[in-house]
Amino acid sequence: MASADDIDLYELLNITQGASKSEIKKAYHKAALSSHPDKVPVDEREEADIKFKAISQAYEILSDDDKRSMYDQHGMAAFEQGGGHAGHGPDLDDILAQMFGAGAGGMPGMGGMGGMGGMGGGGPGRRSGGKGKPEVQQYEVTLEELYKGKTTRFASTKKVICEHCKGNGGKEKAKAKPCDSCKGRGQTTKLRPVGPGLVTQETVPCSTCSGRGSFFAEKDKCKKCKGARTNSAKKILELYIPPGSREGDKIVLAGEADQDPDDDEPGDIIFQLVEEQHKTFHRAGPDLQAELNISLSEALTGFNRIVVTHLDGRGIKLRVEQPEGKVLRPDQVLRIRGEGMPIKRSDTKGDLFLTVNVEFPKDGWLKDQAAVDRVKAALPPQEPVTFATGETPEVVDEVDFEEVENLEEFGAGSDDPRAGGEWEDDGDEAQGAQCAQQ
Ligand SMILES: [Zn+2]
Ligand SMILES: [Zn+2]
Repeated sequence: MASADDIDLYELLNITQGASKSEIKKAYHKAALSSHPDKVPVDEREEADIKFKAISQAYEILSDDDKRSMYDQHGMAAFEQGGGHAGHGPDLDDILAQMFGAGAGGMPGMGGMGGMGGMGGGGPGRRSGGKGKPEVQQYEVTLEELYKGKTTRFASTKKVICEHCKGNGGKEKAKAKPCDSCKGRGQTTKLRPVGPGLVTQETVPCSTCSGRGSFFAEKDKCKKCKGARTNSAKKILELYIPPGSREGDKIVLAGEADQDPDDDEPGDIIFQLVEEQHKTFHRAGPDLQAELNISLSEALTGFNRIVVTHLDGRGIKLRVEQPEGKVLRPDQVLRIRGEGMPIKRSDTKGDLFLTVNVEFPKDGWLKDQAAVDRVKAALPPQEPVTFATGETPEVVDEVDFEEVENLEEFGAGSDDPRAGGEWEDDGDEAQGAQCAQQ
């Protein structure tokens, strides 16, 4: 019997307890790639999705020293909500429970199939009172929209409590009958495959009575909602995204989620912003970064022109003119204060960082010796080359070269951590989905 408590995160990533950080990272990349939902046939996608999330969560815990040591000491119990330990609580339990069955789940043929699952929790799982569940939706926005801010209106269809029966579902004076299918419990159990030879027993709301444990006979149902207790209604909602909003920001439309007669008040609709990648600009917090593409001639002699179109359509003009101007060199960074993203609830803006990219002329661009001489004459005179040893070597070999893309072949296959093909620890922790998409 597997329960969320027994899940071994090390096993999930196929590593040993003593695994180093980089081993964990590698194992995670490998596991995430092989179980990415986009990489499996459609009918295995749901299962892959669950596994992928479990792997991401396992990595989140094991890649963090504090969380890992908590896990090593207490197991998954350390992360249970309200469990008394440090209050970390992504829906890991849910995910693992989905994957392996919450307590009651098990392997076929190992017992535990006698319909006990639904009873364990103690009574029907009907909600009573409180605020309704929030509806969280992702909302994609462009960097331009985040720069300028955005107001958008859209029609939303939601469930509202039937005004005819006040959310009761029955005609006036009619009485609801207990449901036979679920014996009035409102829940039934069913088995769901989650992996090769592995099933989980899950408790689902009874479909006959929609989880209520009782229902009205056909003749007793409310005419308006036909016993559903709610009706559909259209509403125009307005969403305002303030300038400077960021990826992950939540915009709450209070009380706009579906109404449910069992709730004291309806839940919120929450839009979570997802920032689309931009062709020109990269963003980090309030700052923007872009390439400054200039020609070799501009790098040496200067320019006075628009170098980039900003997110609000303005041209950003830069003047770097000789003789006083600077020579711009590849990868040099220019900082332009106040031209980054707006900062929410303020009049200030972040900065714009421009990384110089010099476009050198094509091979063979000098057509004859006279042209070579002209360029040489125009450029600063060649200084004598000094060597690290301080003297010119006596033995000289003239060698051939070939051009390669990058340092990937450097030390390749040698197991040396300094080899060029290794991915760098570039701080992309806990963003599992990104590396798996490549
Ligand atoms: Zn009604
Ligand atoms: Zn029922």
